[in-house]
Amino acid sequence: MRIGVPKEIKSHEYRVGLTPGSVRELVHHGHQVIVERSAGDGIGCSDAAYRAVGAQVVDSAAEVFATADLVVKVKEPQPAEIARLREGQVLFTYLHLAPDADQTKALVESGVTAIAYETVTDSFGRLPLLAPMSEVAGRMAVQVGAHCLEKEQGGIGVLLGGVPGVAPGNVVVLGGGVVGTNAARMAAGLGARVVVLDKSLPRLAQIDEMFGGRVQTAYANLNALEQHVLDADLLIGAVLVPGAAAPRLVSRSQVAGMRNGSVVVDVAIDQGGCIETARPTTHAQPTYVEEGVVHYCVTNMPGAVARTSAFALNNATLPFVLALADKGWVGAVSEDPHLRAGLNVHRGQVTHAAVARDRGFQY
Ligand code: NAD
Repeated sequence: MRIGVPKEIKSHEYRVGLTPGSVRELVHHGHQVIVERSAGDGIGCSDAAYRAVGAQVVDSAAEVFATADLVVKVKEPQPAEIARLREGQVLFTYLHLAPDADQTKALVESGVTAIAYETVTDSFGRLPLLAPMSEVAGRMAVQVGAHCLEKEQGGIGVLLGGVPGVAPGNVVVLGGGVVGTNAARMAAGLGARVVVLDKSLPRLAQIDEMFGGRVQTAYANLNALEQHVLDADLLIGAVLVPGAAAPRLVSRSQVAGMRNGSVVVDVAIDQGGCIETARPTTHAQPTYVEEGVVHYCVTNMPGAVARTSAFALNNATLPFVLALADKGWVGAVSEDPHLRAGLNVHRGQVTHAAVARDRGFQY
């Protein structure tokens, strides 16, 4: 099969659909891979690195789209890219169609077969192609939170790990899913005092076992939430109710009750945020101060560590790319109901129930 990798053109997107390591696997399986010039520059992968593993590097996106049977990307196709898609071609990328009427309509009209990373499932009911970005964001939350606690950033001037004779900082994590456990791991690693709150008891039990008591757990009722929030140096929002806006767990008055210079990192901001004072920010201007508390609420945190994120994403997507290439998309989705769950659009039809419902298409 001919697999195409265009350079991402969405603003501030540095990741790439296939790393040279993934290309090598595909070439080893007998496939032809066409990569747009400088597609990997943003993550430090040169054209020479792609050529060295057998990719054909071409000058333009137009050549990639014109040649490829399967296009592998990171972000949803931009209008200029959608214009190049055609019937019989397969697109594999993040799409997030449910809130995006224009893109859904354009993909339907293009005739392309579009498989969305974010709706591929696994046998535990999880979303394996979203998980790597949650791992990245969870780990980053502590890194950026520690930075924001520094005086020059408006913070209270607390070193999360403390030093001998001086107490460590308090890190409070709301939600013990993928983001939350990765944040807890980083915070515990730095030597902070860490508590994770969740409303799932099985989840709290898993965390308790995972960290051997190094991380405290608390059931997320109103009392526990208030008590821990008010005592946090770094408060991390990491809750998710699948398919819904994030539940509001922390009120403005509770944020106002936190120590001046403490820090909120609301990772759940991409779903509206779980802290009342949180509003979306960008990497260009990531923080603001409200109620005396420094807020970091960047909606696409993994973009800041594009190299790690691209490799993590490729680790998760490669088995599916190989299946699509080896078996053809029909064979691959027929054999694997989890990949089938990723099918969002096919030849003028919306083929994902939730997207069809939200966008008013027949299913
Ligand atoms: P997850 O499903 O793995 O975990 C969510 C956890 O929240 C679950 O353990 C659940 O029990 C808990 N929860 C739900 N409602 C709760 C409540 N009312 N009180 C306490 N706990 C509750 O989800 P995840 O992958 O960890 O993602 C968390 C959030 O981070 C999502 O909104 C996701 O979109 C977001 N995210 C943001 C970025 C970013 O760049 N900002 C990157 C990745 C993920």
